[in-house]
Amino acid sequence: MKWYGTCYDAVMLRPGLLTLLLAFPALSQTTAITNVNVVDVVRGDVRAGQTVLVSNGKIEAIGAAASVAIPSGAKRIAGDGRFLIPGLWDMHVHLRSDQARPNIRMPEDNAPMLDLFLPNGIVGIREMGGDLSDEVLSWREEIRKGILTGPKILTAGRKLDNEPPAWAGSLGVKNAQEAREGVRQMKQVGADFIKVYFRRTPPEVLRAVVDEAHKNNLKVTGHKPSNMSIQEFFETGIDGMEHSQYLATTDRDEYDKMTREAAKREGTAWAMDGTESAARLLAMQDDAEGAKVWKLMADRKFWVTPTLAVAANVMQTSGKDFDQDERKRYFTPGMWATWDSKSSFRRPIQGRALTLREVSNKRWDALMVAAYKMGVPMILGTDCGANNNYTMPGFSIHEEMQAIVKAGLTPADALRMATINPAKWRGDAETTGTIEKGKVADLVLLRSNPLENIRHTQEIDAVLQNGKVYARQDLDNMLKRAEESSARHRAK
Ligand SMILES: [Zn+2]
Repeated sequence: MKWYGTCYDAVMLRPGLLTLLLAFPALSQTTAITNVNVVDVVRGDVRAGQTVLVSNGKIEAIGAAASVAIPSGAKRIAGDGRFLIPGLWDMHVHLRSDQARPNIRMPEDNAPMLDLFLPNGIVGIREMGGDLSDEVLSWREEIRKGILTGPKILTAGRKLDNEPPAWAGSLGVKNAQEAREGVRQMKQVGADFIKVYFRRTPPEVLRAVVDEAHKNNLKVTGHKPSNMSIQEFFETGIDGMEHSQYLATTDRDEYDKMTREAAKREGTAWAMDGTESAARLLAMQDDAEGAKVWKLMADRKFWVTPTLAVAANVMQTSGKDFDQDERKRYFTPGMWATWDSKSSFRRPIQGRALTLREVSNKRWDALMVAAYKMGVPMILGTDCGANNNYTMPGFSIHEEMQAIVKAGLTPADALRMATINPAKWRGDAETTGTIEKGKVADLVLLRSNPLENIRHTQEIDAVLQNGKVYARQDLDNMLKRAEESSARHRAK
């Protein structure tokens, strides 16, 4: 563990963790959740009075009380008045250092955040790549082996980008051959999928990434390069896309014309800046073309991660004083500084840029709703982590579900995006993602009905991950541990 540095060693060795680990029941222990309301996320309804039997990490039986025999010696959890949902996944998480200080690696500021997911009902995360891929891959393995508690991790390893890359840790590639080499490298280190972050790139480079990834049985997702229309991006065969902003659809010839103009003006005093291109995109939005493209996306199962809440957070205009936020104690000063507009690399925007951004954000919300209703498959991701202002790992999943509902979808839709849809994306919907007999026992016990009000996902009584029970007290201990290790980091 040398590479974690001394502070993280201290985190690993503290007695609290050992006590907690030993306190967990053995996997063979049977747990019975009795008289509970089971939320069916697919149908969007509730079955009352159910007994859910969990053993060997799986849901062994589920049914009305009279039909399920509870073995003697089973641990009982009273589900009376409670609601059981499948474990949540945040499908867009960053474990990374501060972009404002690219030469300082921050694994110790990220490690305590692993304790923030389970207390928020999150049993797994999709990590979108950064400069800490060695640590992330180790954490993934330690969590798999039960050495470390935390969310199941899928990771992109390092992002693929232009040379030089925009973010520390990304692999910069200059042509199709290097792109293929980058994909093979990520496959070799054990990445679970490929994330692309090309700002501008010839389509053949992206096509090479996709082709090589598919040969290696990896999916590809990421940002749409600005030189490619959404149609061209989609036609590379890429499996999905991050951020609903790229659902903005224009006539492709018009888009290409704008791109050529932008390229011509580059480096001049009259270069096209973000404000101008945002205004043009808003003016060029073509809903009829959108409907055509979204239909294709729905047919091909092109996965979109909307990330709505972060779009508002990075504008830093909520007026909220986050220094008074009680969650500040869970983060190291180094991590907190990456979110503070006074020290963050994202400068607050104002004037026309801000006005456009506010209009754009509303448009992106509406695009998500329209595309979702046309059947575009979507997964929930929050884009939490360093540099994405006050988008706090763990907690952000509830904000994102609320944003999805506020935009116009139902609580059941928001829950699908965080449960069964991630399972479909992973390709393991046969064994995870819903509460059914034989499936992995990843469950969250809530005090109130989330279908009535999505805010109820925050009222967590217990979490089961692979059948392991984390009672409220265990979850509070985990939060306490995050607080203590962040405080230790503060004192150093
Ligand atoms: Zn991201």
